[in-house]
Amino acid sequence: MVGWLVDHVQLRPGFHELADAHRPTIVSSNFRQLIGPILEREGLELDVRANEIAWHPDGWRARFRNGEACGTCGEPCKRADLPTNGNVVYVGDGYSDRCVAQAADRVFARDGLARYLDEHGVSYERFDTLYDVVRSLA
Ligand SMILES: [Zn+2]
Repeated sequence: MVGWLVDHVQLRPGFHELADAHRPTIVSSNFRQLIGPILEREGLELDVRANEIAWHPDGWRARFRNGEACGTCGEPCKRADLPTNGNVVYVGDGYSDRCVAQAADRVFARDGLARYLDEHGVSYERFDTLYDVVRSLA
């Protein structure tokens, strides 16, 4: 699976420029073991906060980073992964970004996250590629 991902996953345009300019922390509901090899392929060393998966004789075992329910959304979400001080900029597009994005000081959103924030009257900045984010943060 890792080999397939490394061969096929493409980063959103502007990812390298964003990484070079801001050293973002990757906050993901996916598995660190699937993200790390793609970053390695790209020559990027970034902090990754994600779930863990490991092989055991009786099968794969996932260890979810935030096992306890979030006080805001009631699900084990990524909100706990944000720093508690400083100016937090969050960039996201999916379901697992919904709660955590609302805890950030500034949000860039697209796709499902943008539709969700629109429905809930939460302000954000729309982006297409990560070049848009880099330009806005400059
Ligand atoms: Zn939450």
